[in-house]
Amino acid sequence: MVVGELSTKTDVAVIGSGPGGYNAAIRAAQLGLNVILIEKNLIGGTCTNVGCIPSKALIHAADVLHASKQADKMGIEAKTKLDFKKTQQWKEGVVSDLRNGIKTLCKLNGVEMMKGRAFFTSSNSLSVETEHGLSGVEFKKAIIATGTTISQLKNLPFDHKRIIDSDDALSLTAVPKNLLVIGGGYIAVEMASMYLKLGSKVTIIYRGERLLRHMEPEISDVLLKGMKELGGEVLFNSTVESAKGNTATVKTPKGKQKIRFDKLLVAVGRVPYHENLGLEKTKVKLDENGLIVVDQTMRTADESIYAIGDVVPGPQLAHKAFREGKVAAEAIAGQKSAFDNAAIPMVVFSDPEIASAGLTEEQAKGYKIGKMPFSASGKAKCINKTKGFVKVIADEKGVLLGVHIIGPGAGDLIAEATFAIEMGAMLEDLALTIHAHPTLPEALAEAAEDALGKAIHLYRGKK
Ligand code: FAD
Repeated sequence: MVVGELSTKTDVAVIGSGPGGYNAAIRAAQLGLNVILIEKNLIGGTCTNVGCIPSKALIHAADVLHASKQADKMGIEAKTKLDFKKTQQWKEGVVSDLRNGIKTLCKLNGVEMMKGRAFFTSSNSLSVETEHGLSGVEFKKAIIATGTTISQLKNLPFDHKRIIDSDDALSLTAVPKNLLVIGGGYIAVEMASMYLKLGSKVTIIYRGERLLRHMEPEISDVLLKGMKELGGEVLFNSTVESAKGNTATVKTPKGKQKIRFDKLLVAVGRVPYHENLGLEKTKVKLDENGLIVVDQTMRTADESIYAIGDVVPGPQLAHKAFREGKVAAEAIAGQKSAFDNAAIPMVVFSDPEIASAGLTEEQAKGYKIGKMPFSASGKAKCINKTKGFVKVIADEKGVLLGVHIIGPGAGDLIAEATFAIEMGAMLEDLALTIHAHPTLPEALAEAAEDALGKAIHLYRGKK
């Protein structure tokens, strides 16, 4: 607190209203604590405003357009026309509905919302820069949920017109004719798939050797094939040296190449955001990557301060932030709560869609593996989406360790797999559970049967 400023007392002060912050605030209020939720920008954070929600709304619109163009295979001729400005308006409606929903839930739960930028003045006080000046908050416990900020390449600073970031890419009012995407992570891949389906010519430039390098290599292979089928091009082991006007100079293993672009999207990751947060006034510690160090209850090295979401170690995913927010609030309220989940699912909304939970084959080091290609799935055939597979990995006793999916409905299919891993399920549990026919989840059960050497819809030769 700064001398002379008015101050409010509260049990819990939450800084940042993204998935981590608003979940923590609501759960703490449900548990009878007084809560102030401080947000300097829009309620809902990255996920609701410039992340998960706008991207998935636009990806869905791109899917609808693409599917209508493919429908002739089923004897349906559809004449489609894209009005991208209207698509953007529709997306904005989705975003603002969800943002308002979060505001309403906070109000209904008795969470006090404060607009402004917060910074610590001690381990038990904050100052908030509001439009009316500085305001003090004295708290028993604080939760830092300040998320991340976009990484920038020194040689390609964003001008937000030609050289754009993911926020810009989600609010373009016209589909770029030529889109260059730098990056090989999930945001680069999702944006590339989306704009390919919206009609852009897309080239991905990536310094690595395969897209989504943390995923199973076979998934990267099927994804690359899918991207190419959509008309995309990927230059691996390549970097953009410079961009002058609308031409990029790209260094590739075959030499330098000049590529014309309308938009150059730099999607090379996000870094933890705690700039000017006054952490030096607290005992909070950072790791070597600038992430806030926490224990299983999300408590930092300062016993009155907790931290959650993208600003702490682990995958930068909204559902991880949701869970961590609830854990922090419950721990503050004196409940036995810890972030001890066995698996955090990850979904990439590319074409084909990708999802994974648990260990990869390399991490699990072999053991029992089963695989079911969607080309052998009745439902996949019926919906004309047969690319990809479900792969299951179990230990020598058959305990499920990991599931990796590329193909139709992967993002929904991973829920059953995550549940199974969390429950310590065996391959038999998946295989013996009756899955409705014809549905995509049958592929999960059949992959488990394959690992057990008894798949019906796959022929592996006589034993
Ligand atoms: P954030 O959502 O980043 O919220 C942090 C909030 O803190 C912000 O609102 C910020 O304004 C506020 N803040 C920061 N400093 C202060 C301060 N000093 N005072 C007051 N307020 C402050 N994740 C998924 O799980 N699924 C997806 O499909 C997905 N798609 C994505 C697509 C894109 C393009 C991007 C960029 C991200 C996507 N993510 C997705 C990631 C997801 O958005 C993040 O993991 C999630 O938003 C992290 O939540 P958080 O609460 O930690 O932080």
